[in-house]
Amino acid sequence: MTPNRSQNAESQNARPQGARPDTDLIMVCTPDIAGQLRGKAMPRRAIERRREIGVGWTPTNVMITAFGPIAPSPWGALGDLMLRPDFSSEVDLALPDWGLDESFVLGDLLTLDGAPWECCLRGQLARALERLERDHGLRLIASFEHEFHYSDAEAQPGLGYALRALRRLGAFPNRLMAVLDRAGLELDTFMPEYGPGQCEVTVAPQPGLRAADEASILRELTRATARGLGARASFAPILDPNGVGNGVHVHFSLQDREGRPLSHDPAAPEGVSKPAAAFLGGIVRRLPEMVALTAPGVPSYLRLTPNRWSAAFNNLGSQDREASLRICPVFGTGLSAEQHAGRFNFEYRAADAAASPHLVLAAIVNAGLEGLDEGLPLPTVTTQNLAELEPDALAALGRERLPTSLAAALDRLEAGTWATRAFGEVLVEAYRRHKRAEIDLMKELSPEELCARYALAY
Ligand code: GLU
Ligand code: MG
Repeated sequence: MTPNRSQNAESQNARPQGARPDTDLIMVCTPDIAGQLRGKAMPRRAIERRREIGVGWTPTNVMITAFGPIAPSPWGALGDLMLRPDFSSEVDLALPDWGLDESFVLGDLLTLDGAPWECCLRGQLARALERLERDHGLRLIASFEHEFHYSDAEAQPGLGYALRALRRLGAFPNRLMAVLDRAGLELDTFMPEYGPGQCEVTVAPQPGLRAADEASILRELTRATARGLGARASFAPILDPNGVGNGVHVHFSLQDREGRPLSHDPAAPEGVSKPAAAFLGGIVRRLPEMVALTAPGVPSYLRLTPNRWSAAFNNLGSQDREASLRICPVFGTGLSAEQHAGRFNFEYRAADAAASPHLVLAAIVNAGLEGLDEGLPLPTVTTQNLAELEPDALAALGRERLPTSLAAALDRLEAGTWATRAFGEVLVEAYRRHKRAEIDLMKELSPEELCARYALAY
């Protein structure tokens, strides 16, 4: 059961833990290629029986797009899988006064002989993290910073970050914080973001797999909280082709097996330790391929354009909110070396919530692993607006514009061998079929219609 971490929703008419009827459903879910959580529900009385065997699942489900049609499946109607719950991710929240009753758990997709299925994104992340530890003695902690739009805010341009904008969000911000807290997430910050109705919520860093689980949980609980207020929260990459995007920014840092921070070295360039430099080097190298996985919607590429504070080049920046990868500043004066190292982290900005957080983090780790395997040096930190450079000057810096469409990003992914080496052929083939079919579904739509489709889907 999820610990009840605070009393700040005390006045809520919450059922005491364990007081659900045992016929109440708990849904076992898998985070999938379409960026959705899908699964099957079982009555809670079946938990013990199904703890090991889980619920049955079908390979072709991973080809269900977020828009209805099923992409051409390599499996058709054939094959069976088990979706086994991992109760460390359980959410059990019954808050009837808030119109919220959430009971779900994330799980792993296994073949019938118990092996991880290649298209299980949670399993892909777990394996990448295992290799990081096995081959390099490193662990990764991460924190996802989410942006989304809340539908029921009296929207007015010019109120970005304003107290007035927070007030106009009504009961939603405080209620969301209470819900996330009750679900066991450690709260960091909430802010009314720049766009009208846009919000940003951040939770504390956690070990890699838990961080991705929490990102999935946070998205669902944000939607559920909004729904309880008769509103909607949309995590679509961009809602208006001329408006501001909703990014998912992934903060991460490396630790040793004992949990000691390993990203910072005061004597190294930019303060980035040798292993962290190699890890970042791998990401910068693979960014033009990775975006097909981390920014996987057709309108994601309306967001990944220069001068929007998102990410448009394969660069590492410092104190630069246009860099795809950023060395984050450490706030505070008079910090001990230990405190400084503990706060030092990096931020991957070229992601959005059309992607499963598990795939985003797996892509980051797999790219970082390549850098570690090859001992890559720290990429040159760019210090100017790359959008203002002529192509020659950009090339001289060894930097390039990221692909400008999902199709171009998939071309890059397919042209190289990194993805298949990192994730295996089965997943990459399923992924490319799924995403090519999605592009096809959108091909007649105007940018406005496209944004509207994704606003509903996410
Ligand atoms: N909304 C911006 C994006 O699309 C990010 C703004 C910021 O938080 O720096 O990524
Ligand atoms: Mg933001």
